[in-house]
Amino acid sequence: MPTYKVVIVGAGPAGYFTAQALQNSQTDDLSFQIDMIERLPTPWGLVRSGVAPDHPKIKTVSKVFEKIAKEPNFRLFANVEVGKDVSIKELREKYDAVVLSTGSAIGRKLGIPGEDLPNSLSAAQFVPWYNAHPDYTEVEVDLSGDTAVVIGAGNVAMDVARMLALDPTELDPTDTATHALVKLHQSNIRTVIICGRRGPEHASFTSPELRDLLKLEKTDVYFDLNEIEKAQVRVEAAGEVERELRNNLEAMRLIAEHEKKGVARKLVITFLATPLEMKGSGKIEEVVFGINQVEADDKITSTNKTFSVKCSLVISAIGYEVREFAGVPVENGRITNIGGKVEHNLYVVGWAKRGPNGVIGTNKSDAADVVDLLISELKEPKNTNGLSDLLKSNHEVIDQAGWEKINASEILSGEPHGKPRIKEVDWKALVSLGRA
Ligand code: NAP
Repeated sequence: MPTYKVVIVGAGPAGYFTAQALQNSQTDDLSFQIDMIERLPTPWGLVRSGVAPDHPKIKTVSKVFEKIAKEPNFRLFANVEVGKDVSIKELREKYDAVVLSTGSAIGRKLGIPGEDLPNSLSAAQFVPWYNAHPDYTEVEVDLSGDTAVVIGAGNVAMDVARMLALDPTELDPTDTATHALVKLHQSNIRTVIICGRRGPEHASFTSPELRDLLKLEKTDVYFDLNEIEKAQVRVEAAGEVERELRNNLEAMRLIAEHEKKGVARKLVITFLATPLEMKGSGKIEEVVFGINQVEADDKITSTNKTFSVKCSLVISAIGYEVREFAGVPVENGRITNIGGKVEHNLYVVGWAKRGPNGVIGTNKSDAADVVDLLISELKEPKNTNGLSDLLKSNHEVIDQAGWEKINASEILSGEPHGKPRIKEVDWKALVSLGRA
């Protein structure tokens, strides 16, 4: 029976679902040896360093990842950096197929004046900062002012805004990074304003995340009822309204009508505002927005009117782009591909393939499609030792057993504090936990 060697680069959801699809495709006549490379000493990608700590249910998918990792044909090679410790070219020589599942980690830029002022951050920095990603512990986050602006009307903007608007005691029983929790406890931010550039009907929040806002106990959430009603009229007038959109607008209306608690913490969601400029002397102090309108044909146009918001912190949550690898073509922030194929024996899955969209589960069917294509293109299996031939003999790999040690240690540290875990943020300390 031929055994093909496949290497998956990146241990996030798309990578694990690729491994699972390969495992599920095995037959009496076809088997796979799956090696998964991860740059960090820890796997799980955005499930560890992206998902908001106050949404622990979403992270339970990690149980599926661990089940995949327990299969005898799976090996984890964490603490291995492609481009430094091993090249894509070498991987393609040693493996029958290479699958890139490296996500998109670079925050898109707005391209407006003042965007680079201190305390104007990208969600691509802020999210891994509060999630204890070892590369982002040093991000300078100043929470001394009272108002934060979040740009973008998607689920990442919503996560970021909630993290800023929640009472920090609500984050105590979560796995929020210790350094972030300390800062959030000292935070003076009391008003968080999410600004979408189009109308409520164009927002890319999903309705479960919207409905979750009704459960916030220590924060009042505001939508402008008039703005939501106008959007409902517009979509009804345009024809049949898709269920998801109807649910979204209904959730926004419910929140707008929901009785407020009169608490100091406020989360305000506004629409039809394009950021034009950020101002401040030495630090962000104000964002100037252009006011837009929705035309009858659903087009967004500028009214040429502006307004500005005084604030001390801006987080842009307007999407992501891939980090490039030498020799791998990139287009519009994604790895250039057709149906997941990049070049001979090189494939891509997840956000690196289709751009930063879809929830974790989206990656399951996406990876299965790419695996079908990969299998259809397999030739004679290669007879090599894969990564073992490529890494230096003294390279400190964190394998599955090493990761399980890190995992157990973090969970144990969290127990006395009623937390699911306390994440180690120091790279060297992580490696040494994996070695212990
Ligand atoms: P997203 O859903 O694509 O939202 C990006 C937002 O940024 C959109 O509102 C977009 O507006 C806006 N934007 C883009 N360029 C802009 C510009 N130049 N100026 C102003 N606004 C701009 O992306 P995301 O929030 O980063 O989320 C990525 C994916 O992860 C999504 O599929 C999301 O559902 C998923 N996610 C899911 C969860 C969850 O399930 N709990 C949590 C987090 C993320 P336009 O629409 O006008 O372009």
